[in-house]
Amino acid sequence: MSKLGKYFSLEEMTVTNENMDNTPGPTVRKKLKVLVDNLLDPLREMIDEPIAVNSGFRTLAVNKAIGGAQNPISQHTKGEAADIECFDNANMFQVILEHFQFDQLIWEKGNDRQPDWVHVSFKSNGNRNQILKYKNGKYIQL
Ligand SMILES: [Zn+2]
Repeated sequence: MSKLGKYFSLEEMTVTNENMDNTPGPTVRKKLKVLVDNLLDPLREMIDEPIAVNSGFRTLAVNKAIGGAQNPISQHTKGEAADIECFDNANMFQVILEHFQFDQLIWEKGNDRQPDWVHVSFKSNGNRNQILKYKNGKYIQL
């Protein structure tokens, strides 16, 4: 296990169900550490419960295989995004919204009370603080 921060390892941030190599290069590793240091670690401390990473970095091939965004290309392929879940995803979404800078925060699927998971991205500069919510089969900007 190689730690990227206090709570998250490189293995967690590069997990994939695809039977493909998903090893990031040094530039992506640095970006994953930026995401962990600025968002995931402090978020973990604030909500004080475990956060599971369903998907962090994806190579272009892995992103394509799972049907990830192509245009614009998913921030998962840059090491800037993570799909996360915890006991109360709606609360986690709200905590990110109120306490953090982010590039994109997405309420993924689910219903009005709970998203199935939360997508969040962070860049070392140029964060847009864009909030999207999945509703009736499409994403609406909040
Ligand atoms: Zn995502």
